[in-house]
Amino acid sequence: MAEKRDYYEVLGVPKDASADDIKKAYRKLAVKYHPDRNPDDKDAEEKFKEAAEAYDVLSDSDKRAKYDRFGHSMGPQGFGGGAGGFGGGFGGFGGGMSMEDIFSRFGDIFGDMGGMGGAAYGSHRPRRHANKGTDLRITVKVTLKDVMNGVEKKLKIPRLVACGHCNGTGAKDGTAFKTCPRCGGSGYVSRIQQTMFGAMQSESVCPECNGEGKIITESCVHCHGSGVEKKDEVVSFMIPPGVENGTVLTLRGKGNAPRHGGVNGDLLIVVQEENDPELIRDGDDLIYNLMLDFPTAALGGTAEVPTVEGKARLKIAAGTQPGKVLRLRGKGLPRMQSSIKGDLLVNVMVYVPESLNDAEKSAIESLKDSPNVVPTESTSKRIFSRLRHIFNKENRES
Ligand SMILES: [Zn+2]
Ligand SMILES: [Zn+2]
Repeated sequence: MAEKRDYYEVLGVPKDASADDIKKAYRKLAVKYHPDRNPDDKDAEEKFKEAAEAYDVLSDSDKRAKYDRFGHSMGPQGFGGGAGGFGGGFGGFGGGMSMEDIFSRFGDIFGDMGGMGGAAYGSHRPRRHANKGTDLRITVKVTLKDVMNGVEKKLKIPRLVACGHCNGTGAKDGTAFKTCPRCGGSGYVSRIQQTMFGAMQSESVCPECNGEGKIITESCVHCHGSGVEKKDEVVSFMIPPGVENGTVLTLRGKGNAPRHGGVNGDLLIVVQEENDPELIRDGDDLIYNLMLDFPTAALGGTAEVPTVEGKARLKIAAGTQPGKVLRLRGKGLPRMQSSIKGDLLVNVMVYVPESLNDAEKSAIESLKDSPNVVPTESTSKRIFSRLRHIFNKENRES
């Protein structure tokens, strides 16, 4: 895949451009490279698409923030054709917008750019809406282990598929059609309209055949003319490592089939992360709260901590204070589309006994006035200065 240009560079705006500036810049480019102005010009078409892609991301504050953070290497939602690397079908964003997508999504922006209101350019035929099936949306639950390693999911999904008896046309045997009498098969009808510029001929999609140019004479008995049937289909796909709660993966063409043939909708897979009973996720890092007994904290020893891949043993130095954060490098989660791995942060707490028997009581009482058990003022100061991270999350010490 060719190297993608920076979206700000594509639109020719600075990084801090306002939403309004971005819209203006896009409109200018859309007019310049509009296909009606540049018929059969592949280069203009590419530029037109490139600008639309940049505008799609930069006009959406959420996508823009992710783009600013991750660039084309993709954030959790995945722009960047790179997403194609996973499990075949993931398009993410920027797997390429079709011209139909661009017109249907941003058409309102071109709306008033011609001289004549909504008519846009020249003798452009109204675009027949691409016959596209609806998208399906499913939620998939993942555990931390799935986030760590990625996971293949196989799900049975009820969706509309093209009827096998009529090939999705809705007509008996796929052949029982006649040419639409109203439009003569072109799919368009024209009419003369009186406007302030004088009489103008305009074309619109034929209402008789919905632009299909043909009419079913005998319906398929299996789908009653709809061209689609409901079917449970097994869909398998990869959830890539590093996904976050709310990540949406797009499986192109795995949504519903449209009536009477056309392009399938997409299957949108929304990732839902299940809470782990022990480990708390913080981006790529994991946090574990370790409750240490007082003797081990005082004398030193080892402690067992859970990781996503099983237990780990941790050395505890003598004199470990509550609030100390021990960092196990690389034991956190992978970042999506990157080799970066987070850490496991072990947040040490020290357990103070809640009830004691007589022997324990007297043992602790015997320590009460012992010189090394009661902190001096300077000891307290020294320890507090090391525990600033408790009050300042951005500044965790390692
Ligand atoms: Zn017609
Ligand atoms: Zn059928």
